[in-house]
Amino acid sequence: MKQLIDKLHAQKHLSKEEYVSLFSSYTPADASYAATLAQEIKNSVYGKNVFIRGLIEISSYCKNNCYYCGICRSNKNAQRYRLSKEEILDCCRSGYKAGFRTFVMQGGEDPWYTDAIMADIISSIRAEFPDCAITLSLGEKGHDSYERFFRAGANRYLLRHETADEAHYRILHPEPLTLENRIKCLWDLKQIGYQVGCGFMIGSPGQTPQTLAEDFLFLEKFQPHMVGMGPFLPHKDTIFRDHPGGSVDLTLFLLSLCRILLPKVLLPATTALSTASADGKLLGVLHGANVVMPNLSPWDKREKYMLYDNKFPSGKDPVAAVHELSEKMATIDHTVVIGRGDHKDI
Ligand code: SF4
Repeated sequence: MKQLIDKLHAQKHLSKEEYVSLFSSYTPADASYAATLAQEIKNSVYGKNVFIRGLIEISSYCKNNCYYCGICRSNKNAQRYRLSKEEILDCCRSGYKAGFRTFVMQGGEDPWYTDAIMADIISSIRAEFPDCAITLSLGEKGHDSYERFFRAGANRYLLRHETADEAHYRILHPEPLTLENRIKCLWDLKQIGYQVGCGFMIGSPGQTPQTLAEDFLFLEKFQPHMVGMGPFLPHKDTIFRDHPGGSVDLTLFLLSLCRILLPKVLLPATTALSTASADGKLLGVLHGANVVMPNLSPWDKREKYMLYDNKFPSGKDPVAAVHELSEKMATIDHTVVIGRGDHKDI
């Protein structure tokens, strides 16, 4: 399989059949080869740097019912909360003191946050923290909403596509959600000028080497600035509660391939990876990742934002969390950077 990895490196493209063959038949030696190559690429583009993003989980309400999600609308056991503008600004303030220069506002699709409310929150953060990047991860919206948020000061948007295969999308999402609209949202975001992240879970129910090949073909076509990939982890209140979690090894291999395909991509070692493996952050970075997203949400709200079971807890105090992360990354000769950590093409 090394020749396919080399071909991906050289041509930034494989056929669907080649991807399927790579995902189905790779060996530990192939994975190690890909990890070394991914590290070399990452180091040559971004150095041995790890960018931190402060994650603020603003709402555990969601109008959708994705079959895999612990905070989906129909889960009566989910605990719900919303953060006010002042609470969000407080999270940013404590994060800024700890060295964060990117704030990621993530939440379910919660209509309580109208476009006007959201634009006001974004412009307030922009006014108080002009040197910081503002990232949104608030799901599917219309073009006008995305544009309004951009004008208010948002710079980046994360919207995992979850799968680029129509039939697989239907296994994971009920109507009225459609893959077509998801993809349209991603193109809208790019057209408006956001740095855009897509992504998918590894090992989600119904995923096959063929659907993964579609995902990689989509990455080739879309050329995202960021890609979020973590192992699928089941939640006890969903229909997938007994489905096995995604493979850490496969996740790491795909992180490496993603770095090889998209050398400048901003690639997180996700919380899901840390949940599946205690050394997830370090392993992720050693396989091509260069972003970590510690949690800045209020401590008493964190256990209410449970997309999957046993979510890895970030430290309570942001300063201590960054310090601990810096020490960890130093053990693999990497440095946690204080800075926005924009994509190289921006
Ligand atoms: S995955 Fe996102 S959109 Fe789907 S139910 Fe969960 S929070 Fe809502």
